[in-house]
Amino acid sequence: MGALSLRGLSKAFAGNAVLNGVSLDAEPGEFIALVGPSGCGKSTLLRILAGLDHADAGEILVGGKDMSNVAAADRNIAMVFQSYALYPHLTAGQNIAVPLAMKRLGRTQRLPLIGSLLPGQKAIRVGIAQDVREMAALLKIDHLLDRKPGQMSGGQRQRVALARAMVRHPSIFLMDEPLSNLDANLRVHARGEIVELHRRAGVPTLYVTHDQAEALSMADRVAVMIGGNLLQLAAPETIYNDPAHIEVARFVGQPR
Ligand code: ADP
Ligand code: MG
Repeated sequence: MGALSLRGLSKAFAGNAVLNGVSLDAEPGEFIALVGPSGCGKSTLLRILAGLDHADAGEILVGGKDMSNVAAADRNIAMVFQSYALYPHLTAGQNIAVPLAMKRLGRTQRLPLIGSLLPGQKAIRVGIAQDVREMAALLKIDHLLDRKPGQMSGGQRQRVALARAMVRHPSIFLMDEPLSNLDANLRVHARGEIVELHRRAGVPTLYVTHDQAEALSMADRVAVMIGGNLLQLAAPETIYNDPAHIEVARFVGQPR
């Protein structure tokens, strides 16, 4: 069994099947790129893993433990979105601190914390500041910690989002097209950085992209999903040399 195992995950919206029994095993520290046409269910799968939505059937096992009924906040699964989803009223430093503060607080204390963030939480802040600084140094955003998202570029916001995802040492890392809002040059540069962050974290990573060059250059294995079915999961060169289904061949062979 892998560090992350999905067993027969299925999901329908209003009677329309979106995931048809998706199963997958990821090894510890493995980087899997999830590719497939728009609307094939990639984001839905990630949202279910993160606990933002529920599957109709199937299991999510992390280190052998079933997460299906564990609340999102208690899964220790980090997710980075295409939109970054930073808190607009908080500085970069505060954004990065949120998951750490959440971890230390009881559930009833969590909500007021995000509203008024941290001022009243001195004891918490002291311990957290060091972790935030270390993560900021790693992502080279030390100089941005006092800025709010509205005062940062897309590339800078993306780094803050990565820092916020990584700072609590998640056991699974999920990314949903995290680079698609960046211009082409930044995107190529960011690929290498994400792979490096992944290596440091050493946890299974599912990385959704519509960019096959990204999948090829970053991933240990590529998962091809078409119409809610995971049709092939293999090393990038195997996917390209030996597509296992006509739909996979069509998808990876389409002109770009
Ligand atoms: P992808 O990320 O691969 O582009 P999605 O997982 O976002 O695909 O969507 C898969 C399908 O499920 C699409 O047809 C989409 O319209 C539908 N879908 C996704 N979320 C919802 C929802 N909350 N309610 C109804 N339909 C949804
Ligand atoms: Mg999507």
